[in-house]
Amino acid sequence: MSKPLILVTNDDGIVAPGIRALVEVAIQFGEVVVVAPDSPQSGKGHAITIHDPLRLKHVRVFPGVEAWECSGTPVDCVKLAKHVVLKDRKIDLCLSGINHGSNASINIIYSGTLSAAMEASLEGVKSIGLSLLDYSFEADFEPGKPWISRIIRYALNNNFPHGKLLNVNIPKGSVSSIKGIRVCRQANARWVEEFMEGRDPNNQPYYWLTGKFINEDHATDTDVWALENGYISVVPSMHDLTDYAAVESMRDLNQRLT
Ligand code: MN
Repeated sequence: MSKPLILVTNDDGIVAPGIRALVEVAIQFGEVVVVAPDSPQSGKGHAITIHDPLRLKHVRVFPGVEAWECSGTPVDCVKLAKHVVLKDRKIDLCLSGINHGSNASINIIYSGTLSAAMEASLEGVKSIGLSLLDYSFEADFEPGKPWISRIIRYALNNNFPHGKLLNVNIPKGSVSSIKGIRVCRQANARWVEEFMEGRDPNNQPYYWLTGKFINEDHATDTDVWALENGYISVVPSMHDLTDYAAVESMRDLNQRLT
């Protein structure tokens, strides 16, 4: 059997320490190719670039690994990887991250990290978005690495039954503080947001988004619970946002021209 082909991307940019840590784990499992943004793209969700040209530049950032930096969003990176960089090749696994900061619960909606992984899953590629609950540039990715290896091994050796995407979050802490892995659902939490208003040098107002993460879903089968209790959370996720129960309960709205 030939070595698996693993695409690695992220949203914090190709020079972020988190993607370096992910490449270091991924190269133990196969041929790694990196296509990642040339600038930070956090919070870009599933954005794509349609009115500007996209640039790809071959770079030497990771020893022994082919890498390209891209001027676009995380989803642009995955599209260019599939249609240009790895054209005519089968990608066996896409890894996105490791993000500097949580993508648990509702954060999956806004996350460039998870959208990149979701884009690969839309193309039928098994994919994993990975995040560490530490926003700092100096975040310590080492304690999570052996666990990430286990999850990658699982993904390469098993078929995901429904969707093809895993949302993995890693608690911040030492090697001994991580208790294990929990497969769970996303907690029903939300952001309560505010805009700070300021004045620029021309005395024009500007607004800066701030927010507080509020979780009132304290069930023990959620990602937030797992993370608060020292576990790595694994949420099998899907792009289909249909509310299937509502499709049934709203049948009265069905009409046809008579
Ligand atoms: Mn990010």
